[in-house]
Amino acid sequence: MRNNHIIAANWKMNKTPQESYNFVKNLRDKLLDKPDVNIILCAPYTSLFYISSFFNSENFDLGAQNMHWASEGAYTGEISPDMLLASSVKWVILGHSERRHIFGETIDEITKKVVRAVREGLRPIFCFGEKLEERREGKTKEVLSGQLSPIIDRFNESDLQEMLFAYEPVWAIGTGLNAEPDQIQEAHHIVREFAGENVRILYGGSVTPANATELINVEGVDGFLVGGASLELESIWKIINCVYNARIRSN
Ligand code: PEP
Repeated sequence: MRNNHIIAANWKMNKTPQESYNFVKNLRDKLLDKPDVNIILCAPYTSLFYISSFFNSENFDLGAQNMHWASEGAYTGEISPDMLLASSVKWVILGHSERRHIFGETIDEITKKVVRAVREGLRPIFCFGEKLEERREGKTKEVLSGQLSPIIDRFNESDLQEMLFAYEPVWAIGTGLNAEPDQIQEAHHIVREFAGENVRILYGGSVTPANATELINVEGVDGFLVGGASLELESIWKIINCVYNARIRSN
């Protein structure tokens, strides 16, 4: 995993267990000859256990899209770290902008989740990113630092290297408008300034087969977090191939 490119698919609130099963079965078979790309599939809770048996190869991991920080108790509607681990989940998306802005998750709550995930042996995919008005007001660096430092301050370098950081500008998520290479580089530079050169950073926000090759070649991008384009087998497969070919060319 250390040097491989990574594609994390965020299915959000899409696909029944049976739809997930059919998709993953097909994708797993195709992935066998692409060992240089790591895929993390973040499925809805109801699909996790149902598809868990497919995730037994080195480069194909199961992820969840959220979790609670407590281990059990009176938290109606929530999911604990142990419940995820029992479904063979290795990764968990935390701090996604939809959680921050639709469900009102605070930096404090997200930090508690990240700390808990690491303590329990789950690997966070920590998402951060600025809103359009924050970028327009010249506050991008301030906003990103404010989201990143509560997390980075709590871990040592080796813990930070076990997680993934996903730069996802809010204005690029699901809009068809991807960030420009220099905007991505600037954000990735901020992470490495705080967390060290060796952390792994994904870009997320309207990645498609049409822009994947350009975006994977941006310096410092270790892979993608893909939402909409991960829902169709054909489009995620094209993105995987773009990333794989870029990887082969750079070797
Ligand atoms: C996401 O939800 O993390 C995401 C990047 O979505 P999309 O690819 O659809 O912009």
